[in-house]
Amino acid sequence: MFLSEARITDIAQLRDRIWGEVITPYDSNWDEARQVFNLSTDQQPAAIVYAESAEDVAAAVRFARKHDMRVAPQTTGHNAGPLTPNLENTLIVKTTRMKGVEINTETRIARVQAGTVWGEVTSRLEGTGLAALHGSSPTVGVVGYSLTGGVGWQARKHGMQVNQITVIELVNEFGETIRASEDVHPDLFWALRGGGGNFGVVTAMEFRLVPTPQAHAGMLIWPWEEAEDVFTTWLEMLPQLPEEFTTTCRLVQMPPFEEIPAFLRGRQLVIFNGAHLGDREEAAKLLAPLRALNPEIDTFEDVDPSALSLLHMDPEDPIPYAADHMLLDMVDAQTVKELVAAAGAGSDSPMGVVELRHTGGALSRCEPGSGARTNLPGEMLYFTVGALMPGLPPEALDAQAGKVRAILEPHKAEQDYLNFSEEAGKLGDFFDPHTLSRLAKIKAEYDQSNRFQGNFEL
Ligand SMILES: Cc1cc2nc3c(=O)[nH]c(=O)nc-3n(C[C@H](O)[C@H](O)[C@H](O)COP(=O)(O)OP(=O)(O)OC[C@H]3O[C@@H](n4cnc5c(N)ncnc54)[C@H](O)[C@@H]3O)c2cc1C
Repeated sequence: MFLSEARITDIAQLRDRIWGEVITPYDSNWDEARQVFNLSTDQQPAAIVYAESAEDVAAAVRFARKHDMRVAPQTTGHNAGPLTPNLENTLIVKTTRMKGVEINTETRIARVQAGTVWGEVTSRLEGTGLAALHGSSPTVGVVGYSLTGGVGWQARKHGMQVNQITVIELVNEFGETIRASEDVHPDLFWALRGGGGNFGVVTAMEFRLVPTPQAHAGMLIWPWEEAEDVFTTWLEMLPQLPEEFTTTCRLVQMPPFEEIPAFLRGRQLVIFNGAHLGDREEAAKLLAPLRALNPEIDTFEDVDPSALSLLHMDPEDPIPYAADHMLLDMVDAQTVKELVAAAGAGSDSPMGVVELRHTGGALSRCEPGSGARTNLPGEMLYFTVGALMPGLPPEALDAQAGKVRAILEPHKAEQDYLNFSEEAGKLGDFFDPHTLSRLAKIKAEYDQSNRFQGNFEL
């Protein structure tokens, strides 16, 4: 990345104006600053601003406006892949350092600063009987996750997190902080809830919490040689499962890392995960067909709902990986058999995870008063990820992902899911034409200079 002398002088002036940090390719901490969650993503913007406050964000946006640069908001970098091809004249504004969580148990509203990650919310909810609609990783950012969907362990009962947002505060293209809600800037509020980082840099967000007095959750684990039986039994169970029960089934090749408990380390497994928002007896009845397959490990127990953010055991530290996903209509037993044959025992698959999540339920419904993204097509979410190891070319992971994609493609639902898409794409892959044209109209009104660059561009 080349910055002219004049631009470097300008950047020095921005440094003087903010409490946070401005980092350029000439600084010794550049590589650290531009690193994101997927270590194979080579993010090369013109400069990065680590904002400490809404005022810092405003100064950064005014700077970009003056120098005709684009602005890409970012928090944790869990979905930086789609941004990378097009960052030459872009200032990344990182809200990572803007921390703060306020929980009001009476109004059941949470207010977070834009740098908050989910683990910082769930740790505050323990024992309150309230839950947030977070996903499977405690280190994912609340704002990025919420703006474009948010599918977690309560999704079949309560839908996506995006529908719980009540207030969004953001810095607009003029460097002004504005508030969007159902009553103020309702069009912008609609567009942000789906259109994500294309309209400004969010500095704070408020959202509803859902009453969740109890949860019974855990894993059932078998050697992956049992995968066909486990997957087909799970598939037969799905039509009977109430919306209170959200479940997933996955093939997992555990890495040989020290931090993984010895009984799982380096093993090839089939893992069923589930969270039931009800009591133990009801869950036991629902789990009976899978328990009849004699799992080697059964961790189901009553848990405080705040513990659900650790249930999936997602990696919390950055790693290099390749991934793929699809939203699917319900697959049939033959497809599941083919999936297991292509990615399970004896397949030589290099993928660490091949997973089907059961969606549907409240995820399929449109909430009144919702935004541009309110529901999720299909009844399953397929996801696969493989770590890039020395000696394993990315092409090997892509080829394997392509093999599985070909098996599942006939069941593909009509759209993709933004949060799980790791490559550059257009919002047209995620929205119907009517929604897309309304998004474009609101973008033209609220971001006339096309300053803001979401990870998926309008
Ligand atoms: C390990 C892992 C587990 C995951 N689990 C789930 C899951 O269970 N369910 C699910 O639905 N998703 C899940 N995701 C996907 C996740 O929701 C998306 O990657 C999401 O975009 C991450 O948001 P972020 O802010 O952490 O990432 P970032 O890469 O920082 O942000 C992604 C995009 O969000 C927008 N954005 C972020 N911060 C701001 C801001 N302050 N102002 C305006 N726009 C902003 C920008 O457009 C940005 O490009 C997971 C991802 C990973 C890597």
